[in-house]
Amino acid sequence: MKICIIGAGIGGLATAAHLAKKHEVEIYERENLLGGRALSCKIENYEKLLRKFEMMIVSATPSIGEVASEYKLDLGFHLIGGGKRGACVKLLKELGIELEFIGSKLGLIGEEVSYPILSSSDKLKMLPRIMQLLFTRKSKIEEMKKISMEEMIEKYGRGKLKLVLELFPRLITTVNDLGKISAGETFFAQRELMGGDPVIYPKNGLNEIAVSLAKYIEKNGGKIKLGTEVKEIIIEEGVAKGIKIGKGIKAGEEKEYDVVISTLPVQNIFTIANKKHFPEDWAEYIKNLKPTGSLVAYHALREAKKELDGKSFVFIERNAGFEGNDVVGMIDFKMNAPKGKQLIQSYAICTPEEAKNKAKMEELAKIIEKHLEKLIPSYKMEWYIYSSIWHLDGVAKTIDNEKPDVTTPIKNLYIAGDCVNSKGVGMNCAADSARLIVNNLKI
Ligand SMILES: Cc1cc2nc3c(=O)[nH]c(=O)nc-3n(C[C@H](O)[C@H](O)[C@H](O)COP(=O)(O)OP(=O)(O)OC[C@H]3O[C@@H](n4cnc5c(N)ncnc54)[C@H](O)[C@@H]3O)c2cc1C
Repeated sequence: MKICIIGAGIGGLATAAHLAKKHEVEIYERENLLGGRALSCKIENYEKLLRKFEMMIVSATPSIGEVASEYKLDLGFHLIGGGKRGACVKLLKELGIELEFIGSKLGLIGEEVSYPILSSSDKLKMLPRIMQLLFTRKSKIEEMKKISMEEMIEKYGRGKLKLVLELFPRLITTVNDLGKISAGETFFAQRELMGGDPVIYPKNGLNEIAVSLAKYIEKNGGKIKLGTEVKEIIIEEGVAKGIKIGKGIKAGEEKEYDVVISTLPVQNIFTIANKKHFPEDWAEYIKNLKPTGSLVAYHALREAKKELDGKSFVFIERNAGFEGNDVVGMIDFKMNAPKGKQLIQSYAICTPEEAKNKAKMEELAKIIEKHLEKLIPSYKMEWYIYSSIWHLDGVAKTIDNEKPDVTTPIKNLYIAGDCVNSKGVGMNCAADSARLIVNNLKI
């Protein structure tokens, strides 16, 4: 089959990697870079690129133009959940791609800093209750999908277990509001991913994942057309027939395909596929799906803190005045940096609406700074950047927001990436969507 994939993010590349050996696969990517929201870019390109990914700069000191050009920034941060059992690593392994990852446990910035969060005796105390929750029968887990984490915490949350139940579901979903997080979904995710480090990062930078997938695709005959935007998906009588190229060297050209797979944030699909071809209720459902948001930050330390290298820490700010009442965030010391330097990646969860509100984001930046200060008292920065994003994960995994299937009402048109109902969050969700596509194409 001739298969067209729109987008060379993790979702598009993972799908192409699965299909390239047996089919004629062509990927169209609007940008001149691989990786989509999981790309690494030179600092001088950061501002221009982030506008394309539904992000804005909240503050930067000194201005980005003044930061030494040797720094590269990752858009996506790190893989969350499951470590080596997560979909991205599993896929790379299946394809025989060897990448080295830095993994760590999580520390907590509370009254005091504890690393890791749970001591062995904490774990032993909690184990019976956790095991009971994690090994509940599948049918019971299905029932639990309608129950919120808030209800679950009221029922089971005592002592350290309460803290764990308040933290992890938020980190897994990038949603602060425990009333919207499904308990079943959370326990299912945890059960699938038990063991392994909760946070991992490719040793030579996030872009390694996209670059290695692209190499594999090209080695197996697939083609990747960078800097080539798709303007339109051609649909005739309910069937996807091909695409029309927008910007790029072949602008205006029409190409026929047997299958078209879009990995655009699904809410944006009607920018390239005429809505009139879709049933009204499906179009309405897709348009209204809610993504997730965050404030993200990079801090370049004047003096590297070697003892923190490779570690990750979480915090929970109570009664913070954001949806969900408490705000959860992470401060991570894994990111690739120029030799002898240290770059800290942090984020704090918020809603997409909050992420668009600069004043709210400035409040959130103070919360990150407060926790950074607890972790490294009197730290001195060479530079820092705060940006906010209102489309971090394609579709939030919440009770009121059911993620769509990879199939669409249009024959031969599929959707992949972090928007669909695959396993995991963010990059893992995008990588796992490839598995669903392959199952659906039955090839
Ligand atoms: C700042 C930030 C921090 C994040 N942190 C994490 C994290 O810590 N952990 C995690 O798992 N996830 C994180 N994420 C989310 C993660 O990056 C995404 O979930 C994942 O990369 C999505 O992959 P995708 O392939 O579904 O979509 P995308 O990466 O968005 O890929 C879609 C691609 O389509 C291209 N495109 C769009 N329109 C067209 C067109 N018309 N023609 C051709 N190409 C087009 C885009 O340029 C893009 O490359 C973060 C994201 C950001 C931005």
